[in-house]
Amino acid sequence: MEDEPERAKRWEGGYERTWEVLKEDESGSLKASVEEILFQSKRERIIKSCGQVRLGMMRHLFVVIDCSRSMEDQDLKPNRLTATVKLMEAFIDEYFDQNPISQVGIIVTKNKRAEKLTDLAGNPKKHIAALKKAVDTVCLGEPSLYNSLNLALQTLKHMPGHTSREILIILSSLTTCDPANIYEMIQTLKSLKVRVSVIGLSAEVRVCTMLTRETGGSYHVILDESHFKELLLMLHVKPPPASSSSECSLIRMGFPQHTCGSLTDQDAKPSFSMALLDGSTDPGLSLGGYFCPQCHAKYMELPVECKVCGLTLVSAPHLARAFHHLFPLCVFIESPVEKLQENRFCASCQGELKDKSMFTCPSCHSIFCVECNDFIHDSLHCCPCCVRSQSTA
Ligand SMILES: [Zn+2]
Ligand SMILES: [Zn+2]
Ligand SMILES: [Zn+2]
Repeated sequence: MEDEPERAKRWEGGYERTWEVLKEDESGSLKASVEEILFQSKRERIIKSCGQVRLGMMRHLFVVIDCSRSMEDQDLKPNRLTATVKLMEAFIDEYFDQNPISQVGIIVTKNKRAEKLTDLAGNPKKHIAALKKAVDTVCLGEPSLYNSLNLALQTLKHMPGHTSREILIILSSLTTCDPANIYEMIQTLKSLKVRVSVIGLSAEVRVCTMLTRETGGSYHVILDESHFKELLLMLHVKPPPASSSSECSLIRMGFPQHTCGSLTDQDAKPSFSMALLDGSTDPGLSLGGYFCPQCHAKYMELPVECKVCGLTLVSAPHLARAFHHLFPLCVFIESPVEKLQENRFCASCQGELKDKSMFTCPSCHSIFCVECNDFIHDSLHCCPCCVRSQSTA
């Protein structure tokens, strides 16, 4: 309890610095300096993501969505619930794109209760279908942090020790209704190495500060909708650093090839997909599919954990997409454009370098503009000029 004033001070300190940076230009506009702040925060994120750290690539994540009365607030358009659910759909897509061997589950909390919207699973379609229905949820009463955490924990505690156990809470309400001592729950989560992060839609809440600090998660309160999007789709999609105490393990994986089972093939017989065991797909007979290399069970979609033998089945492109997290692209060297005498063009978009900074790739010395530098680090994950020189060599 004693350390709270110190934190509060630091929090205010952050704002003081903001006001020092904000300067009006000749026309009295703050636009330029606000843009400068956003620019610097983006830069920081790229630099942070560049270290060589061990990552929790196999993630088990529960997202808790607050569906209490306060989600009807209209500060996000059209209201907080709809905005959150829409962003969540994009999050699910992005999450499985970047974490192909991970799973996610969704919990909603309202009226002092928590219930599972979807169970922990690796099928994005199932989650998105459930979210599409959730837009019409009636927002009721108060959320319950304790019940949500407890519900997530019942599943997460059975997950193997080499996986990353995480809970992400999107909290709108400033209050919570807990049936038992939440501080004991925080200690339980800590001992089971469950990392809890919170995105607040209203204001900072003390219990969340405690919860995230004790469990090693992050806590952010959104400034506006684009900040919300950035937090959810950038920060929480990236695999978190693995805690030093987590176990290491080699994981067996299967790479089944899709067989189309054309009608001309005499051996082709229609068969059921094993995914029907969890009732997620309609149990129709079909010809083609992915066959588990170990037990020959059939699936229509990857990635999936084989229901019969437990082998993780992925496609090679899936795994390749997760690869860049392990070997992040190095930070390009920033320098002022004035230094350059000639050739003031970006090597990527061929546009003229108009901003005051430019970025140089340390290995091929190509020069990039601000936008291309962001795009290369956020989406491309490799230097386009290095790739070109490698392929011509
Ligand atoms: Zn199998
Ligand atoms: Zn460019
Ligand atoms: Zn390069």
